[in-house]
Amino acid sequence: MDKYSVKCLQCGEVHDSYSLNCKKDDESLLRAYYASKQLIPTDMPGIWKYYNWLPVTGIIEDGSGRTITYKSENLALAIGLEDLWIAFNGYWPEKDAGMMTCTFKDLESFPTMQRLKELNEERIMVVASAGNTARAFSHVCTITGQPLLLVVPKESAHRLWTTHNDNPSVCLVTVEGDYFDAISLAGKIASREGFVNEGGAKNVARRDGMATVMLDAVLTMNSLPDHYFQAVGSGTGGISAWEASMRLVDDGRFGNTLPKLHLGQSLPCAPLYSLWHDTDAVDAACPDGMYDDVLFNRKPPYVIKGGVKDALDATGGEMYGVSNDEASNSQSLFEKTEGIDINPAAAVAVASLVQAIEKGNVCTEDKIVLNITGGGQKRLMQDHELKQLHVSLAVSAKDEEAENKVIKTVAEKFGV
Ligand SMILES: *Cc1c(COP(=O)(O)O)cnc(C)c1O
Repeated sequence: MDKYSVKCLQCGEVHDSYSLNCKKDDESLLRAYYASKQLIPTDMPGIWKYYNWLPVTGIIEDGSGRTITYKSENLALAIGLEDLWIAFNGYWPEKDAGMMTCTFKDLESFPTMQRLKELNEERIMVVASAGNTARAFSHVCTITGQPLLLVVPKESAHRLWTTHNDNPSVCLVTVEGDYFDAISLAGKIASREGFVNEGGAKNVARRDGMATVMLDAVLTMNSLPDHYFQAVGSGTGGISAWEASMRLVDDGRFGNTLPKLHLGQSLPCAPLYSLWHDTDAVDAACPDGMYDDVLFNRKPPYVIKGGVKDALDATGGEMYGVSNDEASNSQSLFEKTEGIDINPAAAVAVASLVQAIEKGNVCTEDKIVLNITGGGQKRLMQDHELKQLHVSLAVSAKDEEAENKVIKTVAEKFGV
C-alpha cells in the first residue's frame, strides 16, 4: 500500500500524487490521505519529524526547522489565560527553534522542493512573493541546487536576506511598479516552457507542511486544543490546521472535537475578513497601509471546495480584522512577556487573540494554540550575518521588454 494518495474533494477521483488540480473539478482542492491513521513522529531532523504525514518519499537532510510548541506563562498571565500554548516558528536556539528564514514558509518550501526532486524536475522554479515565501524558497534551493527565479517588487527586496555565503542557483529580479506588476510578470514567465510554478494553496505539499504546526502542538500538549489562532493572507495555514485536526481526530488519541479556527487579517486590506463578515474591508490603495504586507493576497482560496470558508464553517471559526495600533501594541506585549522578537505578521495573530478574549469568544481555562508564524530575526542576527541576495536584474513594469530581459538574464545565469 502506498504511503499516501491524493484525491479530489469534489468527485473523489484518485489522482497522480503530484497533481495540483482535478481536471473535472476546477473549484475543488485535492487532499492527501495517509495510509497511517496514527501520527508517528520519527527521529529525523527538522520538519521530517512528521514524515509519516508529509506527501514525500524522501527527505532533504539539511536546513529545515520545525515548529516548537511550549506553554506560555507570562503572556498568558498578562491576558488572563490559563492554558495558552505558543507554536513558535522561527529562530530561537534557547528553545531549540531553528527555522533559518524565520517564518513558517520554511514548512512549505522543504516538502515542495522534496517533491520536485522526486520528479527529477529540471525546469526553473518561479516564485513571486513580497518576501517570506521568496526567502524560504531561496534557502531550500540554495541547499538542493534547484534553479529558482524570484520576481519581487523593488520595495520588498530588503526582505530577501540570506545566511548562505553564496546563492548560485537563485536569480533575483526586482520589479519597479506596483505590487501586482511583479506577480503578473512572474505569471507570464512561469507559463513559458522551461519554467514551473509551485502551485500555492493547491499544492498538498505546501498545506501538509504547514499542517505540521498543529501536529507539533498536539503532540506536545497530548490533546487537540479548543482554539487555534493565526494571522492569514491566503488562509492556507488555516486550511492546513483544519486538515491536520481532522487527521488527528481520526487518530483517536487526542480528542473528538475540531479546534475552532480564529484567523486574523490586517485592516484595511482584509479580503477574507470582508468575505466572511460580508463587509467591505479592502481599500483601493492596498497593500499600502498594512501592518505587514506579507499578509496581502488578492485572490485567497475562500469559496473553493476544501478552502477557507469550508474550514471556518466546519470548525465554527471566526475572522478578525486588526488595526495597526492593535497589532503594534500586541507585538510589544508579546516581545516583552515572552522575550523573543516576532515578525509583524505574527503580531496580527496576537491581536486577534486579545480581541477574542474581549469579545468572549474564548474562556479563561480553554486550551489555546497561538501560531507565531514568524519570529527571531533579531535573535538570528546576533548569531549569523545576514547578507542581501544579489539582484541579477532590475526591470520596470512599464518596460515592454521586461519579459525578454528576464528570459535573457535567466539564460545567461543558468546556461539554458
Ligand atoms: C505567509 C505568512 C502568513 C500567512 O500565511 P497563510 O498562507 O495566509 O496561512 C502569516 N505570517 C507570516 C509570517 C507569513 O509569512
